Amino acid sequence: MPDRIYNFSPGPATLPYPVLEEAAKDIVNFNDKGIGLIELSHRSKEFMAVAEESEALIRELLAVPDNYKVLFLQGGASSQFFMIPMNLLGSGKKATYLNTGVWSKKAIKEAELFGDIEVAYSSQEAAFNRVPKDDEYNVDADSEYLYLVSNNTIYGTQFPDFPDKDVMLVCDMSSDIFSRPLDIKKFGIIFAGAQKNMGPAGVTVVIIRDDLLDKAADNVPTMLRYKTHADKDSMFNTPPTFAIYCVGRVMNWLKQQGGVAAIQKRNQEKAALVYSAIDDGEFYRGHAEKESRSLMNISFNLPTPELEAQFIAEAAAIGLDGLKGHRSIGGCRASIYNAFPREGVEKLVAFMVDFAGRNG
Ligand SMILES: *Cc1c(COP(=O)(O)O)cnc(C)c1O
Repeated sequence: MPDRIYNFSPGPATLPYPVLEEAAKDIVNFNDKGIGLIELSHRSKEFMAVAEESEALIRELLAVPDNYKVLFLQGGASSQFFMIPMNLLGSGKKATYLNTGVWSKKAIKEAELFGDIEVAYSSQEAAFNRVPKDDEYNVDADSEYLYLVSNNTIYGTQFPDFPDKDVMLVCDMSSDIFSRPLDIKKFGIIFAGAQKNMGPAGVTVVIIRDDLLDKAADNVPTMLRYKTHADKDSMFNTPPTFAIYCVGRVMNWLKQQGGVAAIQKRNQEKAALVYSAIDDGEFYRGHAEKESRSLMNISFNLPTPELEAQFIAEAAAIGLDGLKGHRSIGGCRASIYNAFPREGVEKLVAFMVDFAGRNG
């Protein structure tokens, strides 16, 4: 392996090194067939097999039941903000949203174009430093769905458990899909952009219960109907072939790691190392309330913005890159998705202890 820096970027993010190597080879000469992966027709039997394998691995790793479709769509996770209400709502139809940060706010704005949207909870006043427990909000009985963002990438908050309400869940899992086991049956739709925990940017994975495919009104454009893509196995038009291939390779890597339950344990251990460095003394301050802490993104502050800038610069100089926090809350953020190596976390923690010792 060449000298690699540790990349704490929130996304596009670190991918497993063996996947990068495999992809580099396959781009030039796929399976020694004398043609590059990204030159293959999406309708060739070679690429069809690639897409089928990616889907099969997703199904296997998350134990997706047969009455759910797995779709590979484009337009980023952000396009799901409007596709969901466009397909599921309509005049007079209601949905309930939990506002736990920028990504849910954007989804609420789009949903309001299509239906009657109830925002049942917001942590905006507290700079989105927490997610709610079930007893902190109500869901109206006539809501079509309850929408939430499972992991709030910017603030470093995560639902430790999914809501247990008498309503179908719709969930943006862009930054924590495949980081822990899921009970898919609770969800009508799960979606995630690939670039945080699954692969490169360019594909959005949508897992949708099949009875929802027929809900769209007649005036929903063909490309924006889930049913269009479900009926054609995500091949209605040219799909993002390279991204779909990479997702499959990352899933294959994840399976070799022992699957989502095994990776969850490793994610818990990695995050615990960073949180213990934060909690050890007064120098670092975690952004999230303890009960809402994310295992994927850890947002924290130092005593002053000057020290934060110095911390980020010194860290980068020793190969710990991408620790700057999101511009909306400032500070620092360590994104440590599935593929982020434990050694990089240990190196960060050692640097944090050293930096606090020198500057505290
Ligand atoms: C990054 C992110 C998005 C936006 O993804 P795009 O693919 O860039 O549209 C949406 N939701 C969450 C939770 C994210 O982390």
